[in-house]
Amino acid sequence: MSAGAAYLIKGVSVVGGEPTDLLVRDGAVAEEGRGVSAAGATVIDASGLIALPGLVDLHTHLREPGREDAETVESGSRAAALGGYTAVCAMANTSPVADTAGVVEQVWRLGREAGLVDVRPIGAVTVGLGGERLAELGAMADSAARVRIFSDDGSCVADPRLMRRALEYVKAFDGVIAQHAEEPRLTEGAQMHEGVASARLGMAGWPAVAEEAIIARDVLLAEHVGARLHVCHVSTAGSVEILRWAKLRRIAVTAEVTPHHLLLTDDRASGYDPVFKVNPPLRTAADVSALRAALVDGVIDAVATDHAPHAVQDKECEWAYARPGMLGLETALSIVVDALLDELGWEGIAERMSRTPARVAGLPGHGHGPAPGRPANLTLVDPAARWTVDAGLLASRSRNTPYAGMELPVRVIATFLRGEPTVLDGKAVH
Ligand SMILES: [Zn+2]
Repeated sequence: MSAGAAYLIKGVSVVGGEPTDLLVRDGAVAEEGRGVSAAGATVIDASGLIALPGLVDLHTHLREPGREDAETVESGSRAAALGGYTAVCAMANTSPVADTAGVVEQVWRLGREAGLVDVRPIGAVTVGLGGERLAELGAMADSAARVRIFSDDGSCVADPRLMRRALEYVKAFDGVIAQHAEEPRLTEGAQMHEGVASARLGMAGWPAVAEEAIIARDVLLAEHVGARLHVCHVSTAGSVEILRWAKLRRIAVTAEVTPHHLLLTDDRASGYDPVFKVNPPLRTAADVSALRAALVDGVIDAVATDHAPHAVQDKECEWAYARPGMLGLETALSIVVDALLDELGWEGIAERMSRTPARVAGLPGHGHGPAPGRPANLTLVDPAARWTVDAGLLASRSRNTPYAGMELPVRVIATFLRGEPTVLDGKAVH
């Protein structure tokens, strides 16, 4: 792609507004208005399409280094671009764990080489995710990867003293600790949500209180320290109530919810299909309603995919042996639109899937407009399109989507990263 290539996006609705034209040049949105013309620009007929700020994912598992059979930085980046994303935060539970400047720089460099989305590594809080010693948080923050979010995701930072020290440490450079809230002593052997369905199926339960107890503790620690806390994949109605209380107290806490926790419930386990095994587990219909309401009223700040690719042998086996996790990048926007477009509108979706996550992650080039003078990180979606999820056609190296065969609304038609298309006509450009 030659430097300075220009694109004239004609007749597009910017975040649901009246049709207009966007001129993209030199990596930025150069002009917006009816009847913009630009000699030499490639014209894209976008009538009927909606332009959103490029989506930003706070919670992506790219599996590289270590499990390149499940995903690589490149394949995950391609899945992200096809899902409308221009930036993803890559979780630290790789092999080796991203707990040093060396590993986070490796992931960051692989993201730059793939060039499909901005890959922002998340650093581990503790060495090897072991929960015993703080990792080199400062060295990761000072590295070329400029890490700002730290998380032991997959594991909880269960030791309250260690959690306190981590919050104190990152406060110095406005970092944030993203907690996977799961009191491990309450979830030993857990296979699914603890409730009526688990009792009926005879599976060991993962009680809501295991999540809620950690969130309650951590918002109090964040208040005590005066540091920023982010809560990963909130999944229960009780967690929403604790977050609501914390926000009323002006505690610096943000929270995310996954698309699958906005749509699917624990009765999916009844077929023993491990594609529905995820951590935290699918909850009840009452939890789903509370999570939806919380995303609409802002108690939950953002949607994050928790995209968790797994190789076939780790997923297509008995439920008890299957790894928890689901694919998410290529379906997230469709699921959120399906669940909540009427309540959120396009503005609300742009806020919760792009602007807010960009702010939480400290990505100033993302989560804007699209508007003149801003980097052209944007996605064009067809709100009228419908598509059927075919696991074999996804760009991810893995196949563990819970939505296979489902018809979903909205297709991503094009995605631009700093003015260059990563997706055109619904297909990855390279
Ligand atoms: Zn997690």
